[in-house]
Amino acid sequence: MPQDISALPPGSMIGILGGGQLGRMLSLAASRLGMRTHIFCPDPQSPAFEVTPHQTIAAYDDEAALAAFADAVDVITYEFENVPAATAAFLAARKPLRPGANALAISQDRLAEKSFLSSKNIPVAPHRPVNSLDELEAAIDALGLPAVLKTTRLGYDGKGQRVLRERSEAAAAFAELSPKPLVLEAFVPFEREISVVVARNAQGEVRAFDAAENVHRHHILHTSTVPANVPPGVEKHAAMLAKVIVVALDYVGVLGVEFFVVAGERPALIVNEIAPRVHNSGHWTEAVCLTDQFEQHIRAVLGWPLGDPARMADVIMENLVGDEVLAVPSALDGNTQPHLYGKSETRPGRKMGHISRITRRV
Ligand code: AMP
Repeated sequence: MPQDISALPPGSMIGILGGGQLGRMLSLAASRLGMRTHIFCPDPQSPAFEVTPHQTIAAYDDEAALAAFADAVDVITYEFENVPAATAAFLAARKPLRPGANALAISQDRLAEKSFLSSKNIPVAPHRPVNSLDELEAAIDALGLPAVLKTTRLGYDGKGQRVLRERSEAAAAFAELSPKPLVLEAFVPFEREISVVVARNAQGEVRAFDAAENVHRHHILHTSTVPANVPPGVEKHAAMLAKVIVVALDYVGVLGVEFFVVAGERPALIVNEIAPRVHNSGHWTEAVCLTDQFEQHIRAVLGWPLGDPARMADVIMENLVGDEVLAVPSALDGNTQPHLYGKSETRPGRKMGHISRITRRV
């Protein structure tokens, strides 16, 4: 499908693949701009279905359902990076798919992602592909220990990875994660983790939000604190690298870039991962930016001018996981903004909402 870069008018229908909280928040942001959204998701209990009447409940490989969905919308985007390649190609042949299939393919595969980033001179952790125990042994020889063994595909929130501290742990970790293609990454002795949410629109305009400093608990994002506790030069460098990535991908939409910050005379940045979508570590933008990441993504895919990502307060975003959501509403005060996802069932480890707390007005 040739990319038409004229702006779509209010009332346009935006197709969103995926019905989780990110799809829901995208749909709400689109509604504020006078757009309509159509959610495509196989799970009838999807929280995004609560906020728009236009919906398809079908599998991602159901071509009849995909064709009808494409017919019903003006542009298509997605809220998760594991959209199957065949689905992306099928849809992209019918309607503009933003971000494009190329960004999906690269971010779905840790090896493809690292090769792409390295080809643009963006630092990534030293790594080796691993498809056999022999290759794992050789990779340990090359990279040393500790190291992190990961599936190249479909890993999230710490799933599909094992930290290896002793060589004796290699065989069991390999047995657990194989026969999937794997990658061994050198363990990065990072001081902190930060992320940058960056946007590029169809006309090539690029804007980045301030960096967030992220703390994980049980492999799930716990807090994002802004500003990140890094020197201004490091933050600028992170934004620059994020911008290089979206330009190199000819990307349209919002992209999350996760970095390790390694201490040193000049702290070094290593890209851990990119996510071709709105990002959990950007939820704070709702509370303190003139344009939040959800509106920014919708503007980008519509071919609208990007909004100002400037930040009007210091803020900490905290995820509410499982029963933590029960703290709302009593946890609220004059400095907090809650956002609950309307999930019908609370389960341990499930993201149920988040709270942004303003710590200083700037
Ligand atoms: P990932 O699924 O790649 O985002 O990894 C999840 C988390 O595991 C990261 O946020 C880090 O805290 C940790 N981690 C992943 N890869 C490495 C690495 N190569 N070195 C050190 N820690 C890592």
